[in-house]
Amino acid sequence: MTGRGPVARAHEAMAACLRPGDWAVDATAGNGHDALFLAQTVGPQGRVVAFDVQPAAATATRRRLAEAGVAEWVDVEVRGHEHLTAALPPTAQGRVRGVMFNLGYLPAGDKSLITRPDTTLAALQGAAAVLAPGGRLTVVAYPGHAGGGEETAAVAHWAQDALPGGFRCRGWDEPDPAGKAPRLFVLERVEAG
Ligand code: SAH
Repeated sequence: MTGRGPVARAHEAMAACLRPGDWAVDATAGNGHDALFLAQTVGPQGRVVAFDVQPAAATATRRRLAEAGVAEWVDVEVRGHEHLTAALPPTAQGRVRGVMFNLGYLPAGDKSLITRPDTTLAALQGAAAVLAPGGRLTVVAYPGHAGGGEETAAVAHWAQDALPGGFRCRGWDEPDPAGKAPRLFVLERVEAG
């Protein structure tokens, strides 16, 4: 997977899977770019749940969604994505068609407040558990900052060697020689039958 940047390719992987009316999750709302993309893609018949531990990120996300006129069908949760499964209503369980993770720190925010391997892995397991057959999970991981290398390695191991049954890794970026470039991982729950 080369060419365009990992975030743009994550959007492409999602756009190829999501349909109007779907449930989708932004696991790391940050400034709300992915939540906006998901909300526009699933439309008013759909539903998006966005998570971030930082109130400032939730505020920025809500503002972006309101300006775009899509806030009505997005629920912004100020809590960790490791609570993803518990935070989704029963109707969403097993019906989510897309989950996006954009790890690391909030650009222009507190760079010490980063996503961490243990909670990220718990969230990935939770995300996998709520995905519908054919649903996709994208992860953009950033090995370049302190702690990011370990987290990226944990994600790579999970995606390539430790996926739950019924899932496959559709593609991943190999590490660059310096081991600093962001890497996209695309997972999919295989359709039954
Ligand atoms: N590095 C990306 C942006 C990542 S934003 C880029 O350059 O585009 C990552 C977001 O994850 C931050 O806003 C941070 O507050 C959030 N975050 C950290 N830990 C989290 C957790 N446990 N659950 C949900 N969000 C978390």
